[in-house]
Amino acid sequence: MKEKACKECKMITNLDICPICKVATSADWMGYVSVIDPENSLIAEKLDIKVKGKYALRVKG
Ligand SMILES: [Zn+2]
Repeated sequence: MKEKACKECKMITNLDICPICKVATSADWMGYVSVIDPENSLIAEKLDIKVKGKYALRVKG
């Protein structure tokens, strides 16, 4: 099963609803980054990520 990405925060999960934003997720996404330490990550700062996890770079749908 393909993982899905949240349309709001872009976090990648196997769920239909994002556990953080409570909005629908989309299976149509491209690329991702892993954020292990959001407080010390430049990527996390740039993408406004506050929770560690896997995030899609682009989410459609
Ligand atoms: Zn979300």
